[in-house]
Amino acid sequence: MDYAIKGRLAIYYDTNSKLQIIENPLIIVEEEKIVDIGTYDKMKPNLSGHDVIGDSNQLLIPGLVNCHTHIAMTIFRGIADDIPLKTWLEDYIWPLEAKLGEEDVYQGALLGSIESVLSGVTAVNSMYWYPGFEAKAISNIGLRGYIAAPILSGITTFEDAYDIIEKHHHTLQDLIRVTFSLHSPYTVTIEDFQKAHQYIHDYNEKNDKPELFIHTHLAESETEMEDSRSFNEKNNQTYPDVDTPVELLDSIGVLDDNLIAAHCIHITEKDIKILKDRGTRLSLNPISNAKLGNHMPPIPSIIEQVDRVGLGTDGPSSNNTLDIFDTIRFLALYYKGFHHNPTVIKAQEIFKLATLGGAKVLNWEGIGTLEKGSLADIVTVNLKKPHLTPSKNPDYILNHFAYSMKGSDVSNVLVNGSLIVQDSSLVNRDIENTIEEVEKITHRLVSKND
Ligand SMILES: [Zn+2]
Repeated sequence: MDYAIKGRLAIYYDTNSKLQIIENPLIIVEEEKIVDIGTYDKMKPNLSGHDVIGDSNQLLIPGLVNCHTHIAMTIFRGIADDIPLKTWLEDYIWPLEAKLGEEDVYQGALLGSIESVLSGVTAVNSMYWYPGFEAKAISNIGLRGYIAAPILSGITTFEDAYDIIEKHHHTLQDLIRVTFSLHSPYTVTIEDFQKAHQYIHDYNEKNDKPELFIHTHLAESETEMEDSRSFNEKNNQTYPDVDTPVELLDSIGVLDDNLIAAHCIHITEKDIKILKDRGTRLSLNPISNAKLGNHMPPIPSIIEQVDRVGLGTDGPSSNNTLDIFDTIRFLALYYKGFHHNPTVIKAQEIFKLATLGGAKVLNWEGIGTLEKGSLADIVTVNLKKPHLTPSKNPDYILNHFAYSMKGSDVSNVLVNGSLIVQDSSLVNRDIENTIEEVEKITHRLVSKND
């Protein structure tokens, strides 16, 4: 199906990082691509053969990018809140995850994919167990995303990870890709980091598929240095003389542009310079950081210096939603208060982080923008809402994006040229059944008799 998408305004960054604003826009989508974009009056289009979507109340933006999540963790939403990260992981999440089956992950990821796309997210980077079932769920909803080939030293094997990469990377019309997911420096040994890094280096040299990355949590908690040192020493690794987790990964030679680091809370100015110089890709997850009491990363300094930065929700049990508009608004407000300065992190910068910035983090060519020739991941937002009024002047719209918009304002979503959401509902899919299934799974997992 080919589409013609109309709106009141289209806003996007082009691939030269220049902000583009088009009034009375029209986007023509054929197969999976945007073949034309411009002003309706100038294009004088012949729309026969195209389904027309949108109206004069719609804002057209690129699909939003969620750079770090654990999408199937919808099943653990709200079951263990108001506790520290270590207790949350060791006393609740890890024991419950030990009881998980592949069908649980499928249903949880299905719900997470539905929640994501209904709030305008079209690309996700997810790290979880049973990645084949995550891939099935993400692609069944029609999203694009990375799943994980997980490594936890002493728990998973490299053979299984290689198998996941071979089976799933660059599959399902390239909607699904794989990251080599090394959980963190306190659960993966130095030797295993280096082994994965070497594999990626060799893989990228000999394959013309999209590149492979390492995806890891980095500098998330205050105790990460001690935890990482004792974990490595227990595993007979020689620990280098370093002061921070960023310095650790740099000193063992794995910190480069093939690494996506989530969080980066406990980092120094020297670390930011290292991340910048190495071209490392960063996902900022401020709501999770706040909720788990992990402290807040120096985000204004990061986005000023590091080139590839995007936003993540983290998992729906540490946020607790996959609505990235929550993250956008929180980020837009938090640092102004923290620094006593309303000019810190402007609306325009946040829009860039959520779109083109995220696309750069995932190195997914053709997403994060609405340029002619790009992939048709397009979101329309209904501006005719009390909390988005006034909106006749384009100057207000980026402020609305950062400070007033919600995921529930999303009307239509296309991913890879397919219409997934129309009039704020999933096309051809009933979500009741998935909600019921997840209720049952959570109930079973938390029941003491399981
Ligand atoms: Zn995470």
